[in-house]
Amino acid sequence: MYKGKVVLKNLTEEEMKDFLVEIGEKKFRGSQIFSWIYKGIRDFDEMNNIPKSLREKLSKYSIIGNIDIDLKLESKMDNTKKYLFLLNDGSIIESVAMEYDNRVTVCVSNQVGCRMGCRFCASTIDGLDRNLEAWEILDQIIKIQKDLGKRVSNIVMMGSGEPLDNFNNSLRFLKLVNEENGLNIGNRHITLSTCGLVDRIYELADLQIPINLAISLHSPFDDRRQEIMPVAKKYSINDIIKSCKYYIRKTNRRITFEYSLIKGTNDSEKESEELVKLLKGILCHVNLIPINPIEEREFEKPNTEYINKFKNYLDKYNIPVTIRNSMGSDISGACGQLRRKYK
Ligand code: SAH
Repeated sequence: MYKGKVVLKNLTEEEMKDFLVEIGEKKFRGSQIFSWIYKGIRDFDEMNNIPKSLREKLSKYSIIGNIDIDLKLESKMDNTKKYLFLLNDGSIIESVAMEYDNRVTVCVSNQVGCRMGCRFCASTIDGLDRNLEAWEILDQIIKIQKDLGKRVSNIVMMGSGEPLDNFNNSLRFLKLVNEENGLNIGNRHITLSTCGLVDRIYELADLQIPINLAISLHSPFDDRRQEIMPVAKKYSINDIIKSCKYYIRKTNRRITFEYSLIKGTNDSEKESEELVKLLKGILCHVNLIPINPIEEREFEKPNTEYINKFKNYLDKYNIPVTIRNSMGSDISGACGQLRRKYK
């Protein structure tokens, strides 16, 4: 509900049909309106196969639900684009579109800001303002798809915010993007990244949604992890690993462990050795992310030699590992660089 009106972009096709019936119309109108929504229209008057009287009725009971592209930045290094969106309440969020191998991946934000407080991440510097509604997460993709003129094939829930801290809206979003006559993006093309909210990982596991789950681990040691991630004071690494094993049992899906490499903090041999011990035998994959610099903090990425050494050690012990090719750092569009205000 939005100022007493239904937000159409929050509805599945079935719900849209039910809504039309509720206001005394035929079901098929629901399907028509549903497909208009996904064309990225902003106004009822753009629905040219819907009679004017119905368009007027719609605007009485509902709104479409729109966020607007305020600014678009294009990387000169790669094909990455960063979008600043203006929300109805004046908030700003950022999303990133990345193109490679004929795939278009959009990194969506989940909250205005974030309250997790990870030391190396710009998104959390000003704390949390509010959760995004499911339709506000969804509309980032609809609007980017329209702007690019290309179908978005993959989604990473890795922008500003912690998706499991906005659990219900994240779940609703997953349902909406899956709609066959909507975006039709399957769960397997979606990755949700969390800093490790263990209780929610169990809940998610029980729902058995076959998305890719990524866990921001960043250290195999609790004390070090606590220094860089306040959330680690609440949940130990042991708790996280237990919940991950449960997740794997329930979903049969491989888990990704994200490991942002910070020079002198978590990049030594001691860490790679402990990481191997921790992850041995778990159906998983490690994604190393050389830390992206942010203005307010002094963290630096290790030298390439160190990064490769870390990777080679995991390789040697057969822990599947890749180095994330961070895109769009020249437009502050890389991991950890998104914000809730203009910079
Ligand atoms: N809230 C989610 C999504 C965060 S962004 C989470 O915590 O997982 C996705 C990944 O980028 C996370 O692993 C996050 O820890 C990492 N990250 C944050 N800031 C970074 C930075 N400056 N450089 C590299 N990775 C960073």
